[in-house]
Amino acid sequence: MTTLAIDIGGTKLAAALVDGRLQMRDRHELPTPASKTPQALRAALEALIEPLQAQAQRVAIASTGIIREGALLALNPLNLGGLMLFPLVQTLESLTGLPTLAVNDAQAAAWAEYHALGGKYHDMAFITVSTGVGGGVVSNGKLLTGVGGLAGHVGHTLADPNGPQCGCGRVGCVEAIASGRGIAAAAEGSLAGCDAKTIFSRAGQGDEQARQLIQRSACTLARLIADVKATTDCQCVVIGGSVGLAEGYLAQVKAWLAQEPAAYHVRLLAAHYRHDAGLLGAALLAQGE
Ligand SMILES: [Zn+2]
Repeated sequence: MTTLAIDIGGTKLAAALVDGRLQMRDRHELPTPASKTPQALRAALEALIEPLQAQAQRVAIASTGIIREGALLALNPLNLGGLMLFPLVQTLESLTGLPTLAVNDAQAAAWAEYHALGGKYHDMAFITVSTGVGGGVVSNGKLLTGVGGLAGHVGHTLADPNGPQCGCGRVGCVEAIASGRGIAAAAEGSLAGCDAKTIFSRAGQGDEQARQLIQRSACTLARLIADVKATTDCQCVVIGGSVGLAEGYLAQVKAWLAQEPAAYHVRLLAAHYRHDAGLLGAALLAQGE
């Protein structure tokens, strides 16, 4: 069986064919339509899948946002504008005539990372730190999605009640502080206006403010991991994302976590997949694996 896997992100759409042994081929991308209207997204998805759909027996979608009963929601409705309640599953079923499954992208990535652990653990959490902070939880070998699709959105737990406003509407979420966007937003003076990538490279050159911004992110993430350990008693936490996998970051998170009481310590691992965990995880879920 071949799965047409689709990844819907805020800036790009990706699609590929995934076979039963998780081999991926014909991967390609399109920019997410800037207008973010249902008509534009439907047309972009149609163009994306057109060269692939004849070779697939089912469709699996990993998407940013909350997936509830096959439709796309957003934690912050302003972010997705006209796409609020976009019927993802229904749209792909009508375009392809194939059975379709949709899941949040971080939940899908968590499932792919869980598989990459090769059965060593049955309880794990995945946290991705990139533009935002996303996550997924596997408990007793099952991916938690929640009745409303919200399970595992650990980036929107509270890190600092006096912290910055988060895009979801809360104040002081982990995402607002630890994410690449959060790191960049807190930069001042010589680093004002720099993106997270630049701030990481300045930290590597010894810039003190840059080092502190990254340390603040790593410390915030370590506290989140202690919270996740306390909530799920997971055996390991897998860290992914462009910030999470940046050189030296995981070591800092480990050092901060070591300062928490021993009950909250948990094994930290770097993600196995760098970019395609969402596509692969969605395909695995569609295969019922
Ligand atoms: Zn939030």
